[in-house]
Amino acid sequence: MPALTQPPHAGQRVLVSGANGYVAAWVARTLLERGYTVRSTVRAAAKGTHLANMFSAYGDRHEVVVVSDITEKGAFDEAVRGVDAIEHVASPVTLQAGDPYGEQGPGSSAVPRSQALTRIPVLILELITPAVNGTLGILQSVLEHGTSVKRVVVTSSCAAVLHDDPTQPLEFDEGDWNEQSLEILEEGGPRLTGLVKYRASKTLAEKGASYLIVLPEKSRSQWQTILVAAWKLWEENKDRINWDLVVINPPYVFGPTIHEVTTPASLNASTLDWYNYVAHPTSSGETHEFLATKGGSWIDVRDLAEAHTLALEKEDASAKRIIVSAGVWKWQDYIDAANAISPPPKLSQCLPVGVPGAAAAAMHMVRFKTDRAKQVFGLEYRTIAETTRDTLADFEARGW
Ligand code: NDP
Repeated sequence: MPALTQPPHAGQRVLVSGANGYVAAWVARTLLERGYTVRSTVRAAAKGTHLANMFSAYGDRHEVVVVSDITEKGAFDEAVRGVDAIEHVASPVTLQAGDPYGEQGPGSSAVPRSQALTRIPVLILELITPAVNGTLGILQSVLEHGTSVKRVVVTSSCAAVLHDDPTQPLEFDEGDWNEQSLEILEEGGPRLTGLVKYRASKTLAEKGASYLIVLPEKSRSQWQTILVAAWKLWEENKDRINWDLVVINPPYVFGPTIHEVTTPASLNASTLDWYNYVAHPTSSGETHEFLATKGGSWIDVRDLAEAHTLALEKEDASAKRIIVSAGVWKWQDYIDAANAISPPPKLSQCLPVGVPGAAAAAMHMVRFKTDRAKQVFGLEYRTIAETTRDTLADFEARGW
């Protein structure tokens, strides 16, 4: 099946959506370094200035185009023309989306359900519409106008794979889907946290769901678009098209930043957490227990960008979801790695210490199998020590 297998890659043009974001900026850079021509999309011209400056050395191998509203039908119609491949990375990453039911759930007396239901569009508009319509929209634009496209890579997430089970440790692979987030979305209530909403947005964008039509008439037309998502749309059309789909499912992404950030507060969501717990002297007030027991799985942003590039080049990636993960971590692991750097980074504040080594005995309730990534990409992942060193060097260079 199609892949961009023929180096040199000069002349092969790749569209990167949301290229002003944390992950996508690295994807664009990696592609440029590999010899590709890159078309970066941003929401507004001003958001492309930093990118244009950063990549100016590549001359006409880099261009920025504005796609102002990825939720609109046909938004990517022009952008996909003449490209050989797509990296669709743009999607909202926020854990703060409005709660459609109010914080106490649909059955609570605080927010009567009839009133609370009118808040569903807040959730839809902030998170799910851009995630779903953005993904479907770009695929539909490729179907109609992407005559030269050979492969589309969509950045999904391990959020679309895992589910929580406090009773037992679990290991997930590409056969797993986060149905739990969709069930909680439907049920509402206190379990519907910002994290669950984000997970639902990624699951819906990648897979879709059919039972959400229980939502009120008013929202039904918007939800109906969710009934077809990335994989389904590609499956339905694969016999008549010349391109294939690859989905990358990363867990938490950490590592240095190259997109435009001016203050720690303007970091993307995952790196902001990392800054708050690993580079703030008191780990933002979190307890030692929190630091030793809270974590997840992770990948360095540069390895993720490499995976996105390999996803274009490896024929065997065709029609696969691929989990990429360097392994598990707790915040204390990064704190220990930070304090082991010699000479220490010159930061504007002291590093936290926590309880050194305390994460060694911690339980990891969620793990991911990465056999497929190993087989298809053969990637060597950066270690916690390497990522920590480079991220703190980045903070030091920014004077933080
Ligand atoms: P960023 O917030 O840094 O970048 C998100 C990008 O998506 C930005 O270009 C942003 O544009 C764009 N975007 C967000 N909302 C909209 C919207 N409503 N309409 C148009 N564009 C929008 O996030 P990351 O780089 O961290 O994430 C990139 C991708 O990686 C996402 O798909 C995310 O789900 C996935 N991912 C990230 C993980 C992480 O830990 N960071 C983990 C797993 C997956 P603008 O700047 O204009 O808002």
